[in-house]
Amino acid sequence: MRIDLARMQRRLAALTTPELGGTPAGGMSRLALSDADRAARDLLVGWLREAGLAVRVDDFGNIYGRRAGADPDAAPVLVGSHLDTVPGGGRFDGILGVVAALEVVSALDDAGAMTRRPIEVVDWTNEEGARFTPAMLASGGLTGVFARDWVYARPDRDGRRFGAELARIGYRGDEAARPRAIAATVELHIEQGPVLEAGGEAVGVVEGIVGIGWHRVTVRGQSAHAGPTPMAARRDAMVAAARMVVAARDLARERGDLNATVGSLTPEPGVINVIPPTVRFSLDLRARDDAVHDAALTELARASPRSPPRRGWRWRSPRSGASRRRRSTPPSGTARRRSAASEVTAPAGSGAAPATIRSTWRASPPPPCSSSRRSAA
Ligand SMILES: [Zn+2]
Repeated sequence: MRIDLARMQRRLAALTTPELGGTPAGGMSRLALSDADRAARDLLVGWLREAGLAVRVDDFGNIYGRRAGADPDAAPVLVGSHLDTVPGGGRFDGILGVVAALEVVSALDDAGAMTRRPIEVVDWTNEEGARFTPAMLASGGLTGVFARDWVYARPDRDGRRFGAELARIGYRGDEAARPRAIAATVELHIEQGPVLEAGGEAVGVVEGIVGIGWHRVTVRGQSAHAGPTPMAARRDAMVAAARMVVAARDLARERGDLNATVGSLTPEPGVINVIPPTVRFSLDLRARDDAVHDAALTELARASPRSPPRRGWRWRSPRSGASRRRRSTPPSGTARRRSAASEVTAPAGSGAAPATIRSTWRASPPPPCSSSRRSAA
């Protein structure tokens, strides 16, 4: 059985015109429940009907096009992705998954093939979360992670509500349109990193989606003047912070199942001739397994193997169970979030006296289209 590549490319082109959010640079800006989203949805629904699929729209605005299977009682396989994009998003991000799903159905039709299970082509609403946070709002609603009233009340930047905007564009459907059972879901998604391309691989299989922990780390040393303070007597928060940053990178590289990123670092007072008493930095930790994330925090604090103990830093009291006690609660909470507070002490960069480091885990919404190492949502 073969797909029709030209047909796929025509559909991709039609879904990425300037009227539908295509940008001059070749990207896409099509926020969920915008007029451009409505136009893209209308186009998709037309194609679904042309393909002879039974179209439903559920109360989250998710669109389903159902191709019957030989067994009418079998739960369907859902195949699809999202038509919304982030501002300045990729041309294939989500759109390819929807077009590919439709192509699967068209190719089956061309071949005269019947499947045992029904197949439903699906477009998930606001999967990116760029307009209404968090991401995966409507698929999350469908699966019971988010309550419908809470989803409807999500505001965009201008205070417009999800529910009202869904109704405005004419895609507020019925609860009865939700799939009652789902045998499996399949999503083809463009890789949003360099791994496959660098490896010369045509396709990768997603093994999981990473959980994301966002942390603010505060390193405390002692303020002193750059001139008269001997190097050996300093408690330099910047040097300690620098070691922690490198230790985080080394640990992640060593483990291979963890990403660690320090994207923001602020010394205080930030003056050229003052040894900074305080440095704050962000720490973004991503792992597929929560236990890996938690272990990484602990291990980071103890001392990285590549950070010599005499100059390293130690975790004093990651209070066990803290992450569970302070975890944020639904409906806004998701499995990806975590929050906790812990305390660390570390020897300062070049002095004998320890600096105090407080690490506060902060609950934070997952960024749009959180990606695993191999692929993305
Ligand atoms: Zn995506």
